[in-house]
Amino acid sequence: MTQALFDNALAAARAMHADTPAIRDFVPWPDDLRFAGRDARVLPSVSHVRSAPGAPSAQTRPLHDALIAVAPHAEWRHTYTEAEVGADFLARFGWFELAGPAGHFRSRQTRITVGYWGPGLHYDWHEHPPEELYSVVSGSALFLAEGEASVTLGPGGTRFHKSNQRHAMITDQSPILTLVYWRGDALDHDPRMSR
Ligand code: ZN
Repeated sequence: MTQALFDNALAAARAMHADTPAIRDFVPWPDDLRFAGRDARVLPSVSHVRSAPGAPSAQTRPLHDALIAVAPHAEWRHTYTEAEVGADFLARFGWFELAGPAGHFRSRQTRITVGYWGPGLHYDWHEHPPEELYSVVSGSALFLAEGEASVTLGPGGTRFHKSNQRHAMITDQSPILTLVYWRGDALDHDPRMSR
């Protein structure tokens, strides 16, 4: 039952990968995926994901629906501390690894994470060695990156971040649900806030 929900989410992610040249060009779909059977870890953000997700597009709705269905069974993480980002941020933010070195589907080839931020959150400047590509599933946010113009992205939008390029994100009225693809070295290293 639970694996079927993850299989659905993975199939929907794969369909969107196949449909979106920016994602296809960033990283091929991994061919070493195997279900890992990780335990659920439910954070406060899961209730927000289910009760107030952002609006999807027609293209992203299957993935949006599949991620909301799997949310109560995912191993959600925070990475950041309350001292770094504040209690309100932690109450309405969370991510889990759909595929990757420590994902619900194990892969050594890439890392695909799912991230949710509630409305009115400021995800401060941060960086990490792997390159990443954000793919917006539903809702919207303003994406900021050092050396580039800021852009508001909604469902179907993508945003590339170079290795160790500082970036930030701000949600306004809407929450945002994203799929994030990673490539490069140190895929198992979590982002850190810039100092
Ligand atoms: Zn990042």
